[in-house]
Amino acid sequence: MSESKQITIAGAGLVGSLLSIYLSKRGHQVSIYERRPDARKNLLDGGRSINLALSDRGLQALAKVGLEERVLKEMAIPMYRRVMHDRAGNLSYQPYGKEGQAINSVSRAGLNMLMMDEAEKHGVQIHFSHAASEIDLDSAAAVFKNEEGQSKEVKGDFLFGADGAFSAVRSVMQKTDRFSYSQEYIEHGYKELEIPAGPNGEFLLEKNALHIWPRGSYMLIALPNPDASFTCTLFFPMDGDPSFASLDTTAKARAFFEKEFGDALNLMPNFDKDWEENPDSSLVIIRCYPWTRKGKVALIGDASHAIVPFYGQGMNAGFEDCFVLDRLMDEYGDDWSGLFEAYEKERKPDGDAIADLAMRNFVEMRDLTGDADFLLQKKIEGRFSEKYPDKWTPLYSLVTFSPEVRYSEALALGKRQDALMAEIMALPNIHQFWDSEEVEQKMLALAERL
Ligand SMILES: Cc1cc2nc3c(=O)[nH]c(=O)nc-3n(C[C@H](O)[C@H](O)[C@H](O)COP(=O)(O)OP(=O)(O)OC[C@H]3O[C@@H](n4cnc5c(N)ncnc54)[C@H](O)[C@@H]3O)c2cc1C
Repeated sequence: MSESKQITIAGAGLVGSLLSIYLSKRGHQVSIYERRPDARKNLLDGGRSINLALSDRGLQALAKVGLEERVLKEMAIPMYRRVMHDRAGNLSYQPYGKEGQAINSVSRAGLNMLMMDEAEKHGVQIHFSHAASEIDLDSAAAVFKNEEGQSKEVKGDFLFGADGAFSAVRSVMQKTDRFSYSQEYIEHGYKELEIPAGPNGEFLLEKNALHIWPRGSYMLIALPNPDASFTCTLFFPMDGDPSFASLDTTAKARAFFEKEFGDALNLMPNFDKDWEENPDSSLVIIRCYPWTRKGKVALIGDASHAIVPFYGQGMNAGFEDCFVLDRLMDEYGDDWSGLFEAYEKERKPDGDAIADLAMRNFVEMRDLTGDADFLLQKKIEGRFSEKYPDKWTPLYSLVTFSPEVRYSEALALGKRQDALMAEIMALPNIHQFWDSEEVEQKMLALAERL
């Protein structure tokens, strides 16, 4: 057992809470300072349920602190497949993985609260309504201000910035020499809408699925909640036509939905209110390096790698940061400088890879899930990998269901697979004989080149 340390974490979001459990289980004294009030006492987001897809990387990290089963049992709704809705309301289907494999819809607030409860059980002190304002990177000391403007200086051995995409800890690191930083707002933003439960408390769309209305340059998605409602998210350009800017009245938005998402709109009795009250939110990609400073301060989760949400991996990647850090702690013992260096070196390529993968998946989801060639390609890959699991794992499965494969490895392999699949899809009449012996033999030959 390594020496017990005083550790300060800025941010009790998804990643900060999980990190605190990992650290306290190792015998460290952990204090978290969180800018917002305690969500367990104050219903945030006006009571709206906002959900996230939790998959194998996140589950692996929860399992290591004994929380996987509880989360799956108490709050997760497995989603086994994508259900695509076309403009006429016709449905098509695409399984996420092999039989029985699923991603899980969980409540963001519910999961966060469960982890905060668990953290406190392990002795973690969470100080709410305290925002990091000043940070001394050399000594890992920080000043946190409460809502009344009172300051509290906290001095520990180490400081983690788990304070999200607009991290205050990172903003201090940004002012140091040789700190690289980039921030990119993508053209699209998002707005949340709701499909409530039916009159008898029933789900009005297939429950165990992630629903997508792919429409080329934009899309609507819906994930199920335990109360039988669905949280829908419209990913849509911020400017141009159509865009949030061009749909500048509720009547225009409603008319647009009637044309584009008619079957969804029919299930949204509160559309007008949701459209008016729920914000148009931006989406940002943040990359930076280094993630640590002088063996005293480290960034984790969105503070070090904020990505767009289209692979459903932001939280999963942050949870994986905790998992990897914990594994490295076994190796490095009391050598925190070595630990932090190894952590950032290992995780940075994976943070970059999942950022790229997430943008690629946006194109796939909004554009291609309604495309016959794309669906056929996925069918051929799915069939082949089921028959020859050692020879081919589809990229989606590598990212989502294969935590033993790093994101950076998955991205590299995915690129090689794409090149090979382009050869298969270029075969004449592939739509007619995709399941023939000839295609299988060709796939076998190509798979040798992977
Ligand atoms: C629309 C959308 C959908 C998403 N869907 C998915 C999904 O399906 N699956 C998935 O894996 N990921 C998803 N994500 C990504 C996921 O939300 C993030 O990756 C995840 O929340 C990161 O957790 P975090 O703890 O690093 O940051 P956050 O969740 O942002 O938490 C940071 C915490 O720090 C606090 N804080 C901020 N500043 C300070 C300060 N100065 N001092 C103290 N505290 C501070 C904040 O109040 C917050 O509690 C989605 C993101 C978006 C925007």
